[in-house]
Amino acid sequence: MELFKQHQIKIYNSLTKSKQIFKPINEGSVGMYVCGPTVYSNVHLGNVRTFMSFDLIYRYLLHLGYKVRYVRNITDAGHLENDADEGEDRISKKARLEKIEPMEVVQQYTVDFHNVMSKFNSLPPNIEPTATGHIIEQIEIIKEILAKGLAYEINGSVYFDVLKYNKKEHYGILSGRNIEDAIHNTRTLDGQSEKRNPQDFALWKKAKPEHIMRWPSPWSIGFPGWHLECTAMSNKYLGKQFDIHGGGMDLKFPHHECEIAQSNACFGENPVNYWMHSNMLILNGQKMAKSTGNYILPNEIFTGENTILTKAFHPSVVRFFMLQAHYRSVLDFSSDALAASEKGFFKLMEAVNSLSSIKTGKTSTIDIKTWETSCYNAMNDDFNSPILIAQLFEAVRFINLLKLETETLNQEDLEQFKKVLNAFIFDVLGLENIIKTDTSSQLEGAVEILIKLRNEARISKNWALSDQIRDELLEKGIQLKDGKEGTSFSIN
Ligand code: AMP
Ligand code: ZN
Repeated sequence: MELFKQHQIKIYNSLTKSKQIFKPINEGSVGMYVCGPTVYSNVHLGNVRTFMSFDLIYRYLLHLGYKVRYVRNITDAGHLENDADEGEDRISKKARLEKIEPMEVVQQYTVDFHNVMSKFNSLPPNIEPTATGHIIEQIEIIKEILAKGLAYEINGSVYFDVLKYNKKEHYGILSGRNIEDAIHNTRTLDGQSEKRNPQDFALWKKAKPEHIMRWPSPWSIGFPGWHLECTAMSNKYLGKQFDIHGGGMDLKFPHHECEIAQSNACFGENPVNYWMHSNMLILNGQKMAKSTGNYILPNEIFTGENTILTKAFHPSVVRFFMLQAHYRSVLDFSSDALAASEKGFFKLMEAVNSLSSIKTGKTSTIDIKTWETSCYNAMNDDFNSPILIAQLFEAVRFINLLKLETETLNQEDLEQFKKVLNAFIFDVLGLENIIKTDTSSQLEGAVEILIKLRNEARISKNWALSDQIRDELLEKGIQLKDGKEGTSFSIN
């Protein structure tokens, strides 16, 4: 039986502001959309935190046996500076400053994003669509919203009519804002705007002469509004209604609020059943962000070339550090916190590496089933990785007692213990056993020393000692093979 039939997950839904039992639209299948990066610069560790949070969720759903279609887009057009409807496109701006093509900017930072995420052992999504690859779909949605009377054209640009939409639907349903507040907050900013109301948002913008990323449309040569791409791509690959939509907390408003409005206006459906938002990574008491210069890049952490940390850290240690916080909690980044995580990480890996030395007993004195249930309960409760990790440290305690033979496990329980532990550490949390590779090179070095000593024994015709070295290594599963090129070995 699939694991998902035995485990009920509860998800904190930002839409209802409560934890709800997860029931996918189609039993056994999950459609999940996560807003991807705007590829105009290197992803910083804050961006990574959000993508890693959804990697954990994706991995757990897969572990439970769900068939998941995970769509994460690449924003390569339409995202203007300050998330606004006016200003320069972030990618065009970078292209102008670097004197290269916008698509060179896109390529460079998409490749960087992929490299970084794979260093963190994040699984790639099933579909990674781009905004520029879906201009036609976006134009079709605008036509439909215009036909429904919920958008208007002015000077070649098209705006979503928030006030009109709000008469029938609730603009602000996700972010909890009400439209009067929105009017109050935006009036002064948009004083010169061509919009009918300051809270209306762009579906299509006519390109100014200097705006080089542009496409033909029925209204003008221009470009789509930032919020539209996610409506177009989620609808295309997951349907009018799908299970999970994720992103960082800061995307709730206006980005996700606008997505809901666009889908309702175009398709007549609330697009998403479970809205999930991950919390921010903080540095020096403030949100890590490119725009303020308050950030660190992943590669600066791996190489140690930065002014924030006292040493370099392995990607898997950074991953462990991030997963020690729940995805909905704020996480403070600091040298001390990373160093503490590193200690815990190595303790966990050393314990895992020593599992093979545990002997089975006749009976079990530890209740492995209860421990296993606690691990699943942690993840079933809104993907609570810190509680899962606390259970993994409980397993470390068991391992130490089992090694001392203070406690015992029968063969069946020991096998189950190893299976569950490995599944949670490597498949669900996505950690990598970096000690293992180190110890195997140390082992190789130690065997080479013994081969050298055996050769010296043979030269001095001390056959008893050379045979003893060969035989005792064989007993430990290490076989020496004498050949023309010297002695080699294999580990069984
Ligand atoms: P962007 O490339 O700016 O569209 O951002 C990509 C993703 O990173 C979005 O989901 C943001 O919410 C997320 N993000 C940006 N800054 C942080 C941060 N400091 N902590 C966590 N997530 C962040
Ligand atoms: Zn989006």
